[in-house]
Amino acid sequence: MLTVSKAVKKLVAKAQPLVKERRRAGLESVPVTEALDRVLAADITSSIDVPPAANSAMDGYAFCAADAAANNFILEVSQRIPAGTAPQSLDVGTAARIFTGGEIPAGADIVAMQENCKESNGSVTIDKNAQSGANVRPQGQDIQAGQIVVKAGTRLRAQEMGLLSSIGITAVEVFKPFKVAIFSTGDELVEPGLPLQPGQIYNSNRATLIGLIKSLGMVPVDLGVIPDRQAATQHILKKAAMRGDVIISAGGVSVGEEDYVKSAVDQLGAVEFWKVAIKPGKPLAFGHVENVPFIGLPGNPASVFTTFMVLARPFLLAAQGVVATEAKTVKGIAQFDKAGESREVYLRGRLTDAGVDIYPNQSSGVLSSACWGEVFVRQKSGESILVGDLIDVLPYAY
Ligand code: AMP
Ligand code: MG
Repeated sequence: MLTVSKAVKKLVAKAQPLVKERRRAGLESVPVTEALDRVLAADITSSIDVPPAANSAMDGYAFCAADAAANNFILEVSQRIPAGTAPQSLDVGTAARIFTGGEIPAGADIVAMQENCKESNGSVTIDKNAQSGANVRPQGQDIQAGQIVVKAGTRLRAQEMGLLSSIGITAVEVFKPFKVAIFSTGDELVEPGLPLQPGQIYNSNRATLIGLIKSLGMVPVDLGVIPDRQAATQHILKKAAMRGDVIISAGGVSVGEEDYVKSAVDQLGAVEFWKVAIKPGKPLAFGHVENVPFIGLPGNPASVFTTFMVLARPFLLAAQGVVATEAKTVKGIAQFDKAGESREVYLRGRLTDAGVDIYPNQSSGVLSSACWGEVFVRQKSGESILVGDLIDVLPYAY
C-alpha cells in the first residue's frame, strides 16, 4: 500500500502535465480585485519603489539631526507637510511640521514625534534624545524597482492582492480555474429537502466537496448522485469526463460487491493506484477516465474531508499551477493519549492553550470531528501518542 507521502508525491507529479496543458489552452487576465485564489501564471516585477519616497511614520516634526544640535534643539517651523503633498527642500536651521505618510523633505533625516516636541510662536522645541533616521520610512523599504514581487505559481491571497496594488498593477495573468466534476454514489443517499425513508441518509459529501472545491478557487461541476449500478457509474463517469478538467467521486471504491467505481474507471480508462495507508480513507483510488484525471474518494464523510485535504488538494493545486503545494506542519504538545495504528492517522484536532486536543470520536462517519477541528494531528504509522508528546500538527489549509 502507498504511504501518504508517496501518494502525495505521485499525485503532484501526475499533475505537472496538466499545468502545461493549461498554459497552452490559454491564460486569462483578471482585475487584481477579482484575483482571490487565482494562480499567477508569470512573475510580477515592480517598476517602482514602495514607498516611492521616504515618508514619516509619525505625526511630528521633520528636521536634520545635526542642524537641531547646532541650534540647541529649537528650530523655526518653515513648512507644513500633510500626507499627499509634495514638500519643499528644508531650509537650514528649520523644521517641517509633518504628518504620518507625509513625504520627508530633502535636507531632513529624522522625525520627532509630536508628543516629544513643543511648538510655540512658530518655533518648535525638540527632544534632545531624537536619533537620526528615527520615524522615517525609507524609500523602497517594502519593494524596490526591478524586484520580483509575486512569483508565478503563487495562489493569490488578499495580502498579495494588496501588494500588487501597491505597485500600481490593475490586472494579472492567471490560469483558468479548474472545473472539478463531482458525484456521489450510493443507493442510500437522498438529497436534503426530501423526506428520509427507512434505510436512507442525507447526502452530505456533495456539499462538503462543493465547499472544498470553491475554497480552492476552482469551479465545482455538480453531477449529483448515482445508484450503486455498473451502468449508471459508467454513464456518469463519461459525462464527468466531458464536463470536468478533473473528476472526483465519493463512495463506492471499497471492496464490497456494491462498489462499482473502480471497475467502471478501469473500463473507461485506468485505475493507476488504489489504497493509501491513511486513516480515515484507505480505499482512495486515482486514475483517469478517457484522458481526464480521476480521484475516487471513499464515502464516509470524515474520510471525504480528510482525503480531500491531504491527497486531492495538493493534486488539484499543483494541476492548477501552484508551486508550493506541500502541507505546512508544526509541532504541538499532545493533550491526549492515542494508541498507534498500522496506517498513518489524520486526527481531527483543535489548538488549546496547553497544546493540541482531538475530537473524542474519530470515526470516519463522524463529520462533527472535522467541524470541531481546525488542524489535523498526524500520527505516524505504528507510533502511539501520550499526553505531553511533541506531535505533528497540520493546520487545515483551504
Ligand atoms: P462507501 O464508500 O460507498 O462504502 O460508503 C461508506 C459509508 O459512507 C457508508 O456508510 C455510506 O452510507 C456513507 N456515504 C457514502 N456516500 C455518502 C454521502 N454522499 N453522504 C453521506 N454519507 C455517505
Ligand atoms: Mg456506497
